[in-house]
Amino acid sequence: MLQPGGSVRFDPSSGQGDAPTSEAHSVLKVVDGKIREFLKKKVYFCAMLRAFKYRLYPTEPQQILLAQHFGCVRWVYNWGLSKRKEVFEQRGESLSCNALIIELPILKKSEETAWLGEVYSQTLQSSLRNLDSAYKRFFKAKSHGKHGGFPRFKSKHDRQSCQFPQGVSVSWEANTLEFPKIGAVNAVLHRAFEGKIKTVTISKTPTNKYFASVLVETTEEIPAKVPREESSTIGIDVGLKDFATLSTGEKIANPKHLKKSLKRLKYLQYKHSKKAKGGKNREKARKRLAKRYEKVTNQRNDFLHKVSNRIVRENQTVCVENLNIAGMMKNHTLAQAIGDVSWSKFLTMVEYKCAWSGKNFVKIGRFEPSSKQCPCGKRNDGLTLSDRTWRCECGLEHDRDILAACNIKAFGLKNLITNVGQELPERTLGESATSRGDVEPRNPRL
Ligand SMILES: [Zn+2]
Repeated sequence: MLQPGGSVRFDPSSGQGDAPTSEAHSVLKVVDGKIREFLKKKVYFCAMLRAFKYRLYPTEPQQILLAQHFGCVRWVYNWGLSKRKEVFEQRGESLSCNALIIELPILKKSEETAWLGEVYSQTLQSSLRNLDSAYKRFFKAKSHGKHGGFPRFKSKHDRQSCQFPQGVSVSWEANTLEFPKIGAVNAVLHRAFEGKIKTVTISKTPTNKYFASVLVETTEEIPAKVPREESSTIGIDVGLKDFATLSTGEKIANPKHLKKSLKRLKYLQYKHSKKAKGGKNREKARKRLAKRYEKVTNQRNDFLHKVSNRIVRENQTVCVENLNIAGMMKNHTLAQAIGDVSWSKFLTMVEYKCAWSGKNFVKIGRFEPSSKQCPCGKRNDGLTLSDRTWRCECGLEHDRDILAACNIKAFGLKNLITNVGQELPERTLGESATSRGDVEPRNPRL
């Protein structure tokens, strides 16, 4: 076996016993040298993680098994959470993930919780690891002065899911995914992948559909970035009235999917609330309501994919503004509209689609580009939200949204040195930069 340090290690258990001959030694040295040379050149194969989502069609017995998995995974998560809380309250100590995992076999032996032994043990361990990540996220957010959510107990009314960190195989011929303890489940494998399966998460939607999210480590190489050029760069300004305004002057209307369905949703919600609890009719009403919500989500995702695909296909560099969406959501009168328009999901899509196709994605500082800033350098500080257009002293007439998109593009191109996807430090901003003092949270446009 070859060690990076250049030494040759022997496996005494192999039975071969012999020390290497000097000839073998020199051959190994050459090979070792080549590896070092290779590493010096910094030629790495970049592994990319990609997720593939497939619809599953489990049989009835498999559905029962899955329900069992969902239930056990949820139970273990809640058990772990209450344990950690208890230990913290009693001793002020934090219980590690492994300390909890070690207790799983003990639980399985106990009579009350012996049913935990009926499901695939790795899914239970995975659940505790997810709990650990939730804790870490919380403390990380806290250390950054943000208010992250403390891990919550899971309810059977939440999304049902369980994660298989290993043991899943795919059969392209039979169109199945095979899971430990559950067996081969029929699936629609509409898209093939090559690479190593990292984890597979099975989830069940409120409309009783099953999906598998397969995380794959592909060996695809990430394409090299194309150079940034003015002619192939676009700036995007997002808003509420128009979903997106492009620096080309094009405006993409906000489809307002939720708003259009709101009346129907309210009616279905009302119907659901009127049905007797635990009854069959209530379940029917619940499903109808869930279906409508699902429809809104599907419409929205479809729209976001179409727009982001087009933008990434038609441009080499995409400049966007870093939005403080959490901050805007605090405005209760606008929260629903902001949630409906889904800017962050859109920007995430543009970002990863750019990465996959070697395009540049530039996120610029939150308060920098402005609908108040004319290219001539003058600023219109008296601009109010209701002013859709304004005329600068230099004679130029501006549509505020198009101007903002053009300014986003200009700032994105100006700061070529900034890393893709990173917010600009304030000192690198142009002369026109707003000072910290008059920083205003971006008001969504209605
Ligand atoms: Zn001007």
